[in-house]
Amino acid sequence: MNKVKIKEIFESIQGEGPYVGYKQLFVRFCNCNLKCNYCDTEFSDNGNYIELNPCELADKINSYNNIHSVSLTGGEPLLSADFLKELLPRVNKKIYLETNATLAEKFVEIKPFIDIVSADIKLESATGIKGSYKFHDKFFENCRGVETFAKIVFNSNITDEEIYSCCILGRKYGIELILQPEMNGDVMAVTAEFASKILDKFLEKYEKVRLIPQVHKFLSIR
Ligand code: SF4
Repeated sequence: MNKVKIKEIFESIQGEGPYVGYKQLFVRFCNCNLKCNYCDTEFSDNGNYIELNPCELADKINSYNNIHSVSLTGGEPLLSADFLKELLPRVNKKIYLETNATLAEKFVEIKPFIDIVSADIKLESATGIKGSYKFHDKFFENCRGVETFAKIVFNSNITDEEIYSCCILGRKYGIELILQPEMNGDVMAVTAEFASKILDKFLEKYEKVRLIPQVHKFLSIR
């Protein structure tokens, strides 16, 4: 059985999006296919990681109790889709996938095992990544039938065109958009007043939008 590199496994409280406050087991996969400007996650396979096969990881996950779900996170967990296909049928917990929503075909391979998709929409103004909408569009198309919401990290550079494009995507697939102000450490990179103004701009175009900052940063937990 193939092994995969896991950066860390830990219990914590979900700090982002509509499931904020739920206790989860986080399984962080090494490596990512993007390089967002604001990324503060240590996911490289330099330094510390553990290597596990699907049975070993499933046994570990199944030994945890009193958690809402297992968050597959990274890095980008869909880079390990072949491994996940072997792992997930062995896991007896609800599965919550955190993804950058660019690997639509990989998602299809594990879709039957996923309960909740937390998908990013990458704004060029915040991430430095150009042309991500076409990847997100394909990704959300493949998410049909699975509970899905989109997280949008933004800063003071967000443009009206970006707001428009996000709302088009949201409306096309009926998904809730979660606006998440970029953070500098445990401080928001924009003022509460600015964030509220951006929420209003979204709401002028699409009704299913919420503003939820990263709560775990305020709690000083992972
Ligand atoms: S997709 Fe996520 S993990 Fe990858 S670089 Fe961007 S913020 Fe970091």
